[in-house]
Parts: sequence; C-alpha cells; structure tokens
Amino acid sequence: MAAPRIAVHKLASCDGCQLALLNLGEDLLALAEAVEIRHFVEAGWVDEEAEVDIALVEGAVSTPHDAERIRAVRARSRLLVAVGACATAGGVQALRNEGDLDAWLGRVYPHPEWVEAAPRCEPLSAHVPVDLELPGCPVSGAQVVAALASLLRGAAPAPARDAVCMA
Ligand code: SF4
Repeated sequence: MAAPRIAVHKLASCDGCQLALLNLGEDLLALAEAVEIRHFVEAGWVDEEAEVDIALVEGAVSTPHDAERIRAVRARSRLLVAVGACATAGGVQALRNEGDLDAWLGRVYPHPEWVEAAPRCEPLSAHVPVDLELPGCPVSGAQVVAALASLLRGAAPAPARDAVCMA
C-alpha cells in the first residue's frame, strides 16, 4: 500500500507551529519514513501543488492570495487540518479586524498602496471546510504527530467548530 501523502502549508503566520514540527528531530525523521511528505518548505520538501491525503495548514487568511491558496489546498487534500491559533482563530494578526485597516497599513508600511490585504483576517474555516483543528500558539509537535497518527489509523476527524475570529 502506498504511504499516505502529507503536505504542510503556511499562510499568514510566524512559522512557530512549523518550527514545533521541525523541533521533533528524530520523531520527524520517523514520521518521514512512515508517510510521504510532499510539501514542507521549511524542511526542504517543495511541491506546493501536490495532491495529498492530509494537508496541515499553519496561518490565517489575511490576503486575497491567501484565500486563493487555501481553496487550492482544500481542493488537493482529502483531509485538511488547521494547525495553531492563526489557522483556527485568526491569530494575533486578526486584532486588525478591530481597527481601521487603511490606518493600520499606513502606520506599518511606507507604501500601503502596494499591500493587498483582505478586509478581515480570518481562520481557515471561514473559507473552506476544515476536518480538524489543533489549538495552541504554538502547537506542540507531539500534538500534531498524535493527530496525524489518529487520522492515518482511520479515526474520524472531529468536526471543526464554527468559524471564530479573534475580533
Ligand atoms: Fe506562530 Fe502562534 Fe500562529 Fe503558530 S499559532 S504560527 S506559533 S503565531
């Protein structure tokens, strides 16, 4: 039987949840032997458009490009797991939902007209069906591996809760 295919994607985030996975060290190597990791840029696997059994997605949807990407990831993945507070709830960047976006952009960027931001920063579940949400900021690598092991054993994913932003 072919090894399950896994992808790790990143949207608007700090990379901390991916680092938690990288910090698994030998356990990550053992995982890589049990599955076929098709895309995980921080670990050196690059195939953004791979069709996979499970996609792990870190980060919130903060730009129109993020929204396009998460729809494409969803279309190419049998199961989609939202990893960490950014993916499950919008994360700290969703605080901007409480303010004036144009004013925020003007304070942060010297050329805000070059920045294409979505009107709101939102969790994945506001854009696509999510099969499982893993809370935490960051998540722990062990938590992600345990969830993967359950899904790969055929456990039904718990339904994602209703979309929640930090706003
Ligand atoms: Fe970083 Fe926390 Fe978002 Fe993970 S949930 S990507 S650690 S800000």
